[in-house]
Amino acid sequence: MNHLTSETFHENARAALADVQLRGALRNATSLFGERRLSAARSLKNWEELRTQAREIKDNVLLKLDVYLDQFVRQAESRGARVHWARDGWEANKIVCELANQHHARVVVKSKSMTTEEIHLNDSLQGEGIQVIETDLGEYIIQLAGEVPSHIIVPAIHKTKKQIAELFTSELGIEPTDDVAKLTSTARTILRDRFAAADVGISGVNFGIAETGTICIVENEGNIRLTTSLPALHIAVMGIEKVLPHFADLDVFLKLLPRSGTGQRLTTYQSLITGTKRRDSDEGPEELHIILLDNGRSRMLAHPVTRQSLACIRCGACLNACPVYQQIGGHAYGSVYPGPIGAVITPQLSGLAKTSQLPYASSLCGACREVCPVKIDIPQLLLHLRAEISQPRNNANDTKLKRSRLEPIAFRLWATLMSSPSLYNASANFGRFMQRFFMTDGGIRHVSKASGWLFPALRAWTSGRDLRPLDRTSFRSHWRDELSRNQK
Ligand code: SF4
Repeated sequence: MNHLTSETFHENARAALADVQLRGALRNATSLFGERRLSAARSLKNWEELRTQAREIKDNVLLKLDVYLDQFVRQAESRGARVHWARDGWEANKIVCELANQHHARVVVKSKSMTTEEIHLNDSLQGEGIQVIETDLGEYIIQLAGEVPSHIIVPAIHKTKKQIAELFTSELGIEPTDDVAKLTSTARTILRDRFAAADVGISGVNFGIAETGTICIVENEGNIRLTTSLPALHIAVMGIEKVLPHFADLDVFLKLLPRSGTGQRLTTYQSLITGTKRRDSDEGPEELHIILLDNGRSRMLAHPVTRQSLACIRCGACLNACPVYQQIGGHAYGSVYPGPIGAVITPQLSGLAKTSQLPYASSLCGACREVCPVKIDIPQLLLHLRAEISQPRNNANDTKLKRSRLEPIAFRLWATLMSSPSLYNASANFGRFMQRFFMTDGGIRHVSKASGWLFPALRAWTSGRDLRPLDRTSFRSHWRDELSRNQK
């Protein structure tokens, strides 16, 4: 089981960096998804227009969320669904457990859903003595391994084929094989039986349509189709931000989501569920319960900067593009939502006290903003959260950040140097003179405690990366030389 927490992000990241196998698996997967995303996006001439349109739709929804949610509830209930409101994870889990118990459920099949991961639904159901079977192949692998997902759309991204083969041998007792077809067919055979035995099917929701009360769930394996149609009771857990005004809006989002997530033009299955089945010959559940989960989302909605976090469609593209995620994977974040979007929403969902290292888990390079299909300005959000953290009123429980009293002094000094040309030149010359004492093989690397006591910032910086030395001559003197050469 993955017991890492966001509080120990730095230690988690260091351990992940030392795991060569993990980094190899991440490198292969994230670069493959990145390339596929690019080529899928290029296949659409109006990609940028679609991104703008998607963001406009989301902004409109978020400004009138109460209106659209109300419409969604009325429409869904008029078609036989029952909608429940949950203020937090505890309430949502209670509703699900009560429903399962009312149906005397012993076995629940579940499709991949980050929202149910967020509220730790499996733990609650298992606490009631109910067996929970994850039916998405990646989630099934993770469940067998006793771990938590490390990516929003590819839960087992950190595992190599060899590790999965060993896991299947040890947990399912099959002959050792690295034949992917055999491994998947083993999982399929086992899961088919579970679908038939399940009393309840639980899913997440990608989009809820206010106009019709429809829920839309996308997938590639067909397991969601089975989860939502075979058991007599279907429970869908939906974040309140997932609502879209019109059915036609799906045209925009169903083009963006699969292309951004897996680089597909369309996922294999799009399940559109509108209420319960009406005739015996219809497909679908006899009972459909939709749980609308807040769990901190109203807080995000209240602020114009944090509100944009709710536009996220959980495609995972920002994870694949992030140079930090590419190196350390998802578990190091110690939270259900990893990567850039996780560094933004986890502190907002769980509070800053225990997650204050996450907004700093970014180089602010902007790669996440560039790939986001709904144009979420993640660097802006990260800076907003960093500003929140630096406010003493938010820091009551954060001893690490409180200790950093030197930071404001350092920044004041930096501002003075940068605003005075003579001081800037003098400090650059001083740096040029001093750097020779720290250089090895033409670079500044791993400044030791003994030699770096005078410059702790330099020591801290080079503990994780090299520092490029200053050029021997300054830009100004290059410029002067160039001018005088041209005048001759
Ligand atoms: S923030 Fe954007 S890129 Fe990242 S998961 Fe959400 S929608 Fe996808």
